[in-house]
Amino acid sequence: MTTLQDCRARDAADPLRPLRDLFVLPDGVTYLDGNSLGPLPRAAAARIAKAVEHEWGQGLIRSWNDAGWFAMPQRVGDRIGSWIGARAGEVVATDTTSANLYKVLSAALSIAAQDRPGHRVVLSERSNFPTDLYIAQALCAERDCELRLVEAEELPAALGDRVAVLLLTHVNYRTGAMHDMAALTRAAHEGGALAIWDLAHSAGAVPVDLHAAQADFAIGCGYKYLNGGPGCPAFLWVHPKHADRFSQPLAGWWGHAVPFEFTPEYRPAPGVARYLCGTQPVLSMVGLDCGLDALDASLPHGGMQALRAKSLALTDLFIGLVEQRCGDAGLRLVTPREHADRGSQVCLAREEGAYAIMQALIARGVIGDFRAPDILRFGFTPLYVGFEDTWNAVEHLRQVFESDEWRQARFQQRHAVT
Ligand SMILES: *Cc1c(COP(=O)(O)O)cnc(C)c1O
Repeated sequence: MTTLQDCRARDAADPLRPLRDLFVLPDGVTYLDGNSLGPLPRAAAARIAKAVEHEWGQGLIRSWNDAGWFAMPQRVGDRIGSWIGARAGEVVATDTTSANLYKVLSAALSIAAQDRPGHRVVLSERSNFPTDLYIAQALCAERDCELRLVEAEELPAALGDRVAVLLLTHVNYRTGAMHDMAALTRAAHEGGALAIWDLAHSAGAVPVDLHAAQADFAIGCGYKYLNGGPGCPAFLWVHPKHADRFSQPLAGWWGHAVPFEFTPEYRPAPGVARYLCGTQPVLSMVGLDCGLDALDASLPHGGMQALRAKSLALTDLFIGLVEQRCGDAGLRLVTPREHADRGSQVCLAREEGAYAIMQALIARGVIGDFRAPDILRFGFTPLYVGFEDTWNAVEHLRQVFESDEWRQARFQQRHAVT
C-alpha cells in the first residue's frame, strides 16, 4: 500500500523537484493538463513584456534585425530539434500543427508520386487526432488519393498495399498509447511508403529520435509539453534528404530563397526554411522560447532521461493509487500499462458521468480534461507535477465518487472546450 508519506518522501528525493518553481502554478491547483496547455513559465511574463515594450515599443521595425525576430523560426526550431533527435538547421518553429501537416503531407505525396507512382494511399489510424484526419481527407481529395483508416493493430498488415504515406501520431491523444516509431517507420519504408509523425504529445514528453527512427517528416505543437503558451507556433521537421526536393504549396515569401529581393517568381529557400510561409507571431514565439528555457533547465538534472523516468514513476503511481483507492468506481484504464507503450498521460474511461466527474475534479482544483465520449484524461508533466500532487488528485477523485458529488446539476453543463 502506498501512503501519502511515501509520496512526500519521493518528492523530497526528486532531483527535478526544484524545477516546478520555474512555473506559475496557482495555489490550490493540481495541474494535470499540461498535455493540452502547458503552464506559464515564471520568466515569460517579463520576457514578453520586454519584447512588447522594448523590442516593439522602442526598437520598432529595427527589431526584425536587432532583436533577432527574423531568425526566430530557425533559432527556436533548433532548440526544439534538440529534444526530438533532429540536427541543427532541420526544424522550424512556425504556423500551426494543422497547417504544418498540410505542408509536409503535400510534400510527401509529391515525392511519392515521383518515386512510387502506383502508391496512392495515405494510411492512418481511425483514432488519430481529428485535425490530422481532416487535413488528410482534404489533401487526398485534392490529389485524388485514398485515405485509409485502420486500427493500430492492423497497421503493419495494411502497409504493403500501395501506401504512399503512413501518417501517425506518436502518442495517441485519447488513450496515451505510444507507437514504436522506429519499427513502424521501417515497415512503412519496406512497403514503399514515407512516414510522417505527429509529435504533439511527444515533444518534451517522451524520448524521440527522428534520425535513429529514419522518419521522413515530423510536426508537433509548441503549447503542450513545450509550455510555449496558448496558440504559440508549432514546429516542422523534414529529413534533410527530402528537404530540397519539393516546395510546399503554401509558398509564401518567408520561404523564398531571397525574400528581400522581392522578385516576382517564387524560388524556394534551401532546406527546411522553404516550409515557412508568412510573417511569424513574434510575441508568441518569445513565449515558446521561454517554455524551452524551462525544459532546458532539466538538462543538468539528466534531461529527457530523467524526465521520462519521473513521468513513468508518476503515471505508475497514479494507476496504482486509482486501483488501490477507487477500485469500485467503475473506472477502466485505457492507457497501456507497458512502459514502452505509453506516453506521459493516463486515461480512464467510465460509461456514465465522465464529463461531470472531471468538472467536479476541476471545481476541487484538480485540472485534467475530458475527451468524448467517455474519457477522463490526466497529463503528467514531470517538470512541475510531483508525487504528492498525484496522491491529492486520486484522493479528490475518491471523494468525488464517495460523496456522489459529480451527480450535481452544475457539473452536467457542457462547455465549448472540454
Ligand atoms: C493538439 C493536437 C493538434 C493541434 O493542432 P493545432 O493546429 O495546433 O490546433 C494536432 N494534432 C495532434 C495529434 C494533437 O494532439
